[in-house]
Amino acid sequence: MLRGHFKYGSILTLLLVLYCTACERKPTELQEFSGERFIMGTLVSITVYCEDEHQGKKALDEAFSSFERIDDLTDKFNDQGITTPLSSDVIKVNKNAGISPVRVSDDTLNILERSTYFSELSGGAFDVTIGPIMDLWGFGNNKHVPEQEEINEALTLVDYGKIKIDYDQGTVLLPSPGMCLDLGGIAKGYATDQAVSALRKLGIKHAIINAGGNVYALGTKSDGSLWRVGIRDPRGDGIIAIILVQDTAVVTSGDYERYFTRGGVRYHHILDPATGRQARDATQVTIVGDSATDADILSTALFVLGPEKGFDMVTTLENTEVVFVRPNKQILYSDTLTKNFTFIGYGDYQPVAK
Ligand code: ADP
Ligand code: MG
Repeated sequence: MLRGHFKYGSILTLLLVLYCTACERKPTELQEFSGERFIMGTLVSITVYCEDEHQGKKALDEAFSSFERIDDLTDKFNDQGITTPLSSDVIKVNKNAGISPVRVSDDTLNILERSTYFSELSGGAFDVTIGPIMDLWGFGNNKHVPEQEEINEALTLVDYGKIKIDYDQGTVLLPSPGMCLDLGGIAKGYATDQAVSALRKLGIKHAIINAGGNVYALGTKSDGSLWRVGIRDPRGDGIIAIILVQDTAVVTSGDYERYFTRGGVRYHHILDPATGRQARDATQVTIVGDSATDADILSTALFVLGPEKGFDMVTTLENTEVVFVRPNKQILYSDTLTKNFTFIGYGDYQPVAK
């Protein structure tokens, strides 16, 4: 069933195409339950395998509820939530910028804690106060190329270091009027992790979630083999590589998800907080790691940092690997991935292990 609302007014292409083939050697006692809903501006697909129909349906319901709950907290545009008519935490914090601290949920605090941790680590490449610049480029509505002066002015409002988070009081304050949170680079990953823990709590051992390119493979496929996650061609519909995983997140950011073109130039939605303009050293970045939250942040951060600084950063992180697609069609991938990474040989892409 397709449910939800079109937040960004466009159907987003899936970043990753899942190979979730019908399991040839599926033990007879395991049944497949799957569903799709439109949440957070993207199609969320969930498939679980379990023995019992009641458990399977409950698992799907709770996993989708996790996405709806996080959407209701982080939605930047709609006053009307899916599960509640109240404004999201993000809308409340943004409305109170320069006015007063706002009491927010523990989930929002967790999201901001993880965001600011990686903002520090990436030298500000990931910055959830990017909101005013996103708005300037019209990624809510009215997409256009802004003047340099407008960019300079909006950039004075972008600084994750100024967010005042009081973890004891559970409050958040943006100190200057016009500052604006945008959690678009982390919310889907965080919601994916929440859905995974809901599934684990219900005893689910085999499941796959794909939230617009934020994939989590829980356990193995029901026949015991690894999940096959395909990385799509950033400039076409084909698959350029397959990664085999188990209990792992595979999250992709690409310059083809939300963009407009003017004068033959592609203006996409991943912005460098240092310049207020599109990051241009990658067309796609995929992160493979334990946490979908961290992988979501890192896919955006590394897109901004580019391959050189990106690989430097990833090699300092445990259990974290990257596949970088550059505008020249080179595919740079962590050499630790080699065993579980298959290049398809599609188009004129050139894989290079690093
Ligand atoms: P997608 O949402 O397509 O999966 P990303 O995870 O890369 O892709 O998130 C892109 C979104 O992140 C943008 O739409 C915007 O909301 C936000 N964003 C853009 N640039 C940055 C940045 N430098 N730091 C943090 N968030 C960003
Ligand atoms: Mg991201």
